[in-house]
Amino acid sequence: MDKNEKNTVLIVDDDNANLIMLSDILRTEYTVRVAFDGESALKIAEKYSPDLILLDIIMPGMDGFHVFNELKQSETTAHIPVIFITGLNNSDDEKRGLKLGAVDYISKPFDEIIVKLRVQHQIRIVNQLRAIEYLSMVDQLTGIPNRRNFNNRITSEWGRAIREKEPICLLMMDADYFKKYNDTYGHQQGDKALCVLAQVLSKTLRRQSDFFARWGGEEFVVLLPNTDKSGGHEIGEQLRKNMEAEEITCEDGTVTKLTVSVGLHMHMPTTRCSVDEFISKADRALYNAKNTGRNKVCVYGEE
Ligand code: GH3
Ligand code: MG
Ligand code: MG
Repeated sequence: MDKNEKNTVLIVDDDNANLIMLSDILRTEYTVRVAFDGESALKIAEKYSPDLILLDIIMPGMDGFHVFNELKQSETTAHIPVIFITGLNNSDDEKRGLKLGAVDYISKPFDEIIVKLRVQHQIRIVNQLRAIEYLSMVDQLTGIPNRRNFNNRITSEWGRAIREKEPICLLMMDADYFKKYNDTYGHQQGDKALCVLAQVLSKTLRRQSDFFARWGGEEFVVLLPNTDKSGGHEIGEQLRKNMEAEEITCEDGTVTKLTVSVGLHMHMPTTRCSVDEFISKADRALYNAKNTGRNKVCVYGEE
């Protein structure tokens, strides 16, 4: 979500007057969506993934508890926090809702300040969790996805390649003589060079399905779904050439160069292979590129 974008709150209530009142209280701070019954609430929640749901318990047809259970069954809506809207002094409903896993409740008739504060409190938690999740998935130095992120991605792409019987390529890329680069220009300049490398990756890989990450140290990985060996090789070459052409300037104006070696492995999902084997084959191709001169792309099995 964009920093300036408002959080979205879905209000579910069969009573129009309640919907209008709650919308009026919340709409200056949030994007408000409304639903008059359980069925449309589920559809809207599925489609828009709101950050918070205010859910009336007593509704004709599907009641709030039923809607809550349905929300928890779906992968896209299970994580959305729910505040129940309960009748005055109905502590049984409050207890049942909280036991089910609602994060809070608001009772009717509404007190504007209480509604605002309870919603604010939950939205703050949602945003903090999102920030933590973001930090855990992004490499701090370069700002590109980190290894944890890559591990998630490769698992899902691997499954997809098998289902759709499409080839999938993995590139392992490692900066050449990087220890020497650090020793010559300093560790800070080394950090800058790694950021430049990440930029080269992001400007070279243009397909939406392409994914790259910092594997660790001066090593990066690229995942190319639905790509055959020659396509993968082409991308590897482009990366190598673009990095070779890059001029990395130091604070004092000195222009430096850094090259990369790339190992490529393409897998056809018709043959048996584990994700670990897939990665280690690309790694062996990289090892080969290092041993046969560096600044080159080597393909697994074509030594
Ligand atoms: P090769 O061509 O065989 O890959 O040699 P190399 O010197 O690149 O490889 P080696 O594994 O000997 O050294 C890697 C260096 O990368 C050593 C390490 O200090 C440096 N390095 C790893 N992570 C970072 C980082 O985040 N910032 C900086 N500046 N250097 C890093
Ligand atoms: Mg009602
Ligand atoms: Mg290296």
